[in-house]
Amino acid sequence: MTKYFRSNVDAMASYVPGEQPPRGTKIIKLNSNENPYPPSPAALEVLRNIDGEWLRRYPEPFGGEFRQAASKVLGVPSDWIIVGNGSDEILSIIIRACTEPGRKVVYPMPTYVLYRTLVEMQAADILEISYPEDYSLPLKELIAADGSVTFIASPNSPSGHVVPNEDLRKLASQLSGILVIDEAYVDFTESSALDLVHEYENVIIIRTLSKGYSLAGLRLGFGIANPKLLDGLFKVKDSYNIDAIACAVATAAITDQAYKNSCVAKIKASRNQLASDLKKLGFLVWDSQTNFLLVQPHQGNAEYLYQKLKEQKILIRYFKQPRLDDKLRITIGTDEQNQTLVEALTDLLATKHKG
Ligand SMILES: *Cc1c(COP(=O)(O)O)cnc(C)c1O
Repeated sequence: MTKYFRSNVDAMASYVPGEQPPRGTKIIKLNSNENPYPPSPAALEVLRNIDGEWLRRYPEPFGGEFRQAASKVLGVPSDWIIVGNGSDEILSIIIRACTEPGRKVVYPMPTYVLYRTLVEMQAADILEISYPEDYSLPLKELIAADGSVTFIASPNSPSGHVVPNEDLRKLASQLSGILVIDEAYVDFTESSALDLVHEYENVIIIRTLSKGYSLAGLRLGFGIANPKLLDGLFKVKDSYNIDAIACAVATAAITDQAYKNSCVAKIKASRNQLASDLKKLGFLVWDSQTNFLLVQPHQGNAEYLYQKLKEQKILIRYFKQPRLDDKLRITIGTDEQNQTLVEALTDLLATKHKG
């Protein structure tokens, strides 16, 4: 039999993203942590005015325009920024550059499911360390494992918790490899680990425009790190990894902080409301510093509720895996969407009780 793929590729499972129904499907979509509000009007204006000439030519290879804009917003020099086709691409670049068979990639579980897929592609060894029930960082084990790459999502998905900077500092100072701090949800929290890039050469912070800036479809993410670290990453990135349109639209979006902040304020208020409504329905609700909630229905009927809501065209996320299979992850929608969800859950729980 002909064998087309490396054995690690044959052996790996495909990444299963949240369901993405075709555009125009009438559905309340609370399963992929997208922002319920439209992108910045300034960003959409740039999109409408894209010049054909920009598309005739190859784009600037490093997304220079976006790096300049992000540099102003974040207060870091532009050569400390690497831009990618979504932050997923930055994660992938890190794996390609820093791992090899026999070297470990380490992360606490449960976390972002894609990490595992990216590592399996590269045939590196994986060490998953369980978070304790209180989601404190398992520092001793992470340090002892000393991975070539250590991933920490903070705020984490699907737990929604933030890892304290003190713990991240201890980790960064003890590891011989790279510490990747994935801040996809940083816009919804008060704190950030950005300062650590100035203190530790082995730290890279990952950000995205997909969540806070309502641009998941555009595909633009970036990393911030010491240029010494970025040098190696630039070597393995695709030569033209950010297209001219994404770069221009994202530049306008990140420059419009006022708009992003106003959307985030609405989402945080809705998050509090939804958390309180779900608690009234008897759900356990984890504290969240993100645009989603991890919740546990009281009768262990998470999968049932997920299925029933799907029949009613409300999509939320259910992970059939240890520790999560009795829980649901719900993206914060508009107040109207959240209300529809709460009403549907109220009815479902009432019916279940009768039965
Ligand atoms: C959504 C998400 C990403 C991916 O973001 P993109 O920029 O859309 O690729 C990365 N990390 C975590 C933890 C996420 O939840």
